[in-house]
Amino acid sequence: MTIQTLSRPEIPERINAPVSYHSHIYFNAAQRTIAEQLNESLQDNFKIWDYRWLDAPNQLHPSAMFRFALLKEDFQRYVEWILKNRQGLNVLVHPNTGDGYADHTYLAIWLGDKLHLNIKKRPADAPNPYADRPNPMFQTHLAGLVRYRPGDDTLAQPAQPKD
Ligand code: ZN
Repeated sequence: MTIQTLSRPEIPERINAPVSYHSHIYFNAAQRTIAEQLNESLQDNFKIWDYRWLDAPNQLHPSAMFRFALLKEDFQRYVEWILKNRQGLNVLVHPNTGDGYADHTYLAIWLGDKLHLNIKKRPADAPNPYADRPNPMFQTHLAGLVRYRPGDDTLAQPAQPKD
């Protein structure tokens, strides 16, 4: 038997106070209905925004999932709630500190199985992806304004008008 050792994330040099939290809820095809029900009860109990529902893995996430932002004031209440309500789904909770690499590695809290995210540190000279638009994690005024459904993705680009 071989023992697989996961590489340990770097300890961040500096950790800023979070502006909000994210939670990612992972599911497989057999768990999709559970995820849909959780998506509903979540929004009966919490004001969320910065929402993505992905029905397939992508470059970063190894499984289908949905994710959303939470007010930092709701962190404790959410963790207590998801501990009781996750119905076997694997859940990641992480702060949004401005360091996306640290947020998803060293600062990540997992319930259930810890999944391997294919996240790489952004080079210091790489452009800030939020430089030309508001950082969605800061937009707490959007909390609870929209009821999100499976398939919604607030990061998706609006369709380009043709001519
Ligand atoms: Zn996240």
